[in-house]
Amino acid sequence: MTRTRPMAFVTAPGKIEFRDEPLPPLNPTEVLISVKVTTICGSDLHIFKGKHPSVELPIPVGHEIAGEIIEVGAEVTMVEPGDRVAVEPVLVCDACAFCQRGDYHLCNNISFQYRRGQGGFTPWFIADQRWVHRLPESASYLEGALVEPMSVCVHAVRRAAPTLGDRAAIFGDGAIAQYILQAAQLAGISSVYLAGINDLRLAKALEWGATGVVNSLQTDPVVFIQEHTGGLGVERSFEAVGIRQTLVQALQALKKGGTSVLVGLFEQPEVTIPANIFVHKEIGLLGSQGYAWDFQRTLELVGNGRVQLDAIVTHQFGFGEVQQAFDLLMQPNTPAIKVAVMIDE
Ligand SMILES: [Zn+2]
Ligand SMILES: [Zn+2]
Repeated sequence: MTRTRPMAFVTAPGKIEFRDEPLPPLNPTEVLISVKVTTICGSDLHIFKGKHPSVELPIPVGHEIAGEIIEVGAEVTMVEPGDRVAVEPVLVCDACAFCQRGDYHLCNNISFQYRRGQGGFTPWFIADQRWVHRLPESASYLEGALVEPMSVCVHAVRRAAPTLGDRAAIFGDGAIAQYILQAAQLAGISSVYLAGINDLRLAKALEWGATGVVNSLQTDPVVFIQEHTGGLGVERSFEAVGIRQTLVQALQALKKGGTSVLVGLFEQPEVTIPANIFVHKEIGLLGSQGYAWDFQRTLELVGNGRVQLDAIVTHQFGFGEVQQAFDLLMQPNTPAIKVAVMIDE
């Protein structure tokens, strides 16, 4: 008899429905995880709105997952039942030129668990042993789920490769922007300015170490950053929204010779940006795609108490409340930053 499990799907824009999905038997190198916590990502929200550029509805959601291993396949050697783990939710081909050199985030056939039918808002999740990472003893399951978004930010800051003492600007005030703020400070950024539109989130950013914050609806953030940097601009900037305006601002806020890193996902994939600024200011724009070997770095930071992942979690919901959890994040001027669904804790 096939076992089944309830799993949250986005079935129409704004609508979550639980479906009974099969729980297939484990392959020899797979593990079965009792999911404890799954957190909601910005990309889940793009899907929830029905506006993710590479996803069609209906589709299961949720990829920030932590839980306890309760069963292992016959050939599993890296982990065992009882291990507390974070899930790295990618699926790669292992055969393309990028996989072969270890750049699996650039895999020509990259996919994610949820795109192959396995979302994270479910009590049982199956992953290959290579994609589960043991949590440090000090870390909660909530922090475990948050290793995924922090890994995105660790990767983005590594892409930016700041030099000790550089100044930075972050465009966005969501969870990714807040984690970039934490990671940038660890990477030796001396001053970091954060531009957003939600005053509550901006106030939190100040608490978490931002040198200055600016509400872009009230003040031009580029002017604000110029004023705070002696008219020069910042050496590094990060775009963590995914709209034209903030991308242009991230470029305009740069000091000559600076580098901007694009992390946000654009619902509208083609936007116009000023082209000459690249040459005039000799600036660069880099993309940052997910993570590769960044879970290990993030877990090291978590284990050594260098990052506080759960600080940004403002709301927790129960397993049956996935719809409410998404609705809260979609509210204009939401009081939420990061929202967690406690599945079995
Ligand atoms: Zn995520
Ligand atoms: Zn590949």
